[in-house]
Amino acid sequence: MSTDANLIRADRFAEIGLIIQRDAGLIIERWLRRAAEEKPPATAAHRQVLMDQLPSFLAELGRALAESGDPENSRHCVPAVEHGEQRWQAGWSLADLIHDYQLLRLVLLNYLDEVLERALELREVLAVGLALDEAIAASVVGFNQFCELQARRQTDALHDADRRKNEFLATLAHELRNPLAPLRSALDLIHLHGTDPATVDQLVEIMDRQVVQMTRLVEDLLDMSRIALGKLTLKKVRLDARTAINQAVQTVSHHLQLKEHELKVSLPSEPLWVDGDQGRLVQVFVNLLNNAIKYTPDRGKIALSAERRGETALVQVRDNGIGIAPEMRSRIFEMFTQIDLGDGREDGGLGIGLSLVRRLVALHGGTIDVCSDGLRKGSAFSVTLPLVEPGDNSFAEAPAPGHLAVGRKVLLIEDHADGRRSLALLLKIVGHTVEAAENGRRGLDLAAANPPEVALVDIGLPDVDGYEVGRELRVKLGPELFLVALTGFSQPEDRRRALESGFDAHLVKPVDLQTLQSLIAGHFGRR
Ligand code: ADP
Repeated sequence: MSTDANLIRADRFAEIGLIIQRDAGLIIERWLRRAAEEKPPATAAHRQVLMDQLPSFLAELGRALAESGDPENSRHCVPAVEHGEQRWQAGWSLADLIHDYQLLRLVLLNYLDEVLERALELREVLAVGLALDEAIAASVVGFNQFCELQARRQTDALHDADRRKNEFLATLAHELRNPLAPLRSALDLIHLHGTDPATVDQLVEIMDRQVVQMTRLVEDLLDMSRIALGKLTLKKVRLDARTAINQAVQTVSHHLQLKEHELKVSLPSEPLWVDGDQGRLVQVFVNLLNNAIKYTPDRGKIALSAERRGETALVQVRDNGIGIAPEMRSRIFEMFTQIDLGDGREDGGLGIGLSLVRRLVALHGGTIDVCSDGLRKGSAFSVTLPLVEPGDNSFAEAPAPGHLAVGRKVLLIEDHADGRRSLALLLKIVGHTVEAAENGRRGLDLAAANPPEVALVDIGLPDVDGYEVGRELRVKLGPELFLVALTGFSQPEDRRRALESGFDAHLVKPVDLQTLQSLIAGHFGRR
């Protein structure tokens, strides 16, 4: 008797082949029981994978043994390949797989002994073993192909991400330089014609716009890193989505006018109550509106509508602009994706707005989608947000912008000389009395000599930690003092740390004068 594989395969093992075909179900059951005993974690998922492939595998194996195999065409390997692939996908290791085939071999041989009521002959044992070995080999080949494909996909994805990141860095440099050029020119002009009020007014307007643009870029970048670190959190309250929509419209009104677009807003007369973060929802709608403004040629038409759709609020931003090609529709929500059409690029952008928007909407339990009939046929972005029961409207409304505080005694502690001088100047211009200190010790001395009503304290000071300065000021001046932390850090733990140190509020630099004024007005208005 020869043990050559082809000779073994060419032999007919009709009796055992028919038994395996006939009793495949029983054999599988025994195998499952055995596998479960040996490996208690053999889960339902594993079982399902086995059940998908094993009946046909055993039937083919039986047939091959019964009919005498064509050495070149071992059909039982076909289900084995699929079986192998499925197991790997279900997270099995090579050792798991081989172990299971060993179990199958054991169960199968025992079963055959039992049914035939005799010990199997050596060549029969070899034939069953060979068929199973071939199945293992086919399974491993299937797995390797599957792994190679996975690895190739991962490499392609990494290359793609790397390319987009490099493009992003180039865009970032470009976008940051764009506002710098007009700022530089405006400053030069102020040096030259600083006394002409009309020129100064014009230049201030330009500088204001550019600073807003740069601040927006930096905010987006910070949000992006918060997302990457999983630190983007929402401060949710029950609010009427119409308020956020209105605020967004106000925010973009200047940009809208510059491009001479027509904006039609249609809102329901009833509130749309959602659990949301007001600032973040405004950011979502501002982003969509700004994109509609940017990617629509001048004097275009933009429509913003909101309505109740069953259990959700549906907010749509439509434009008749450059549109989006079908193949780009899902990709524009990915980080760093920009469609390179030239149109709209002069308005800048980093290709991260829509991915932020999608993330923010998802954090609100909502969805975002885009439709477009194609290039130059306009776009329509649809946001849905889950509606909730009417709120008691008790969340703190920000004081109206016009409601500004005046005439407080302010102590500003800030080590950055230009930041200190400019903020002190602004505070003086709007009517406060300001004393400024460049470090913590000096600030505490000034506070002791002339107690302020408001203290603005930078956290990163050169001598004493800003939190410590805050604590000392609170102890010395008591609860009367309105204590505000100024920092470059805006994580919830930074805010929490500031509040724990006795601060009443926490502002992220650059400080927006209107926000600060509203806070001061809100604080003293409540007392
Ligand atoms: P950015 O505007 O900074 O490039 P976004 O993430 O906001 O980045 O948008 C990604 C891309 O999607 C844009 O570069 C633009 O190609 C496309 N896009 C976004 N909004 C519109 C729109 N309303 N019409 C046409 N294209 C749009």
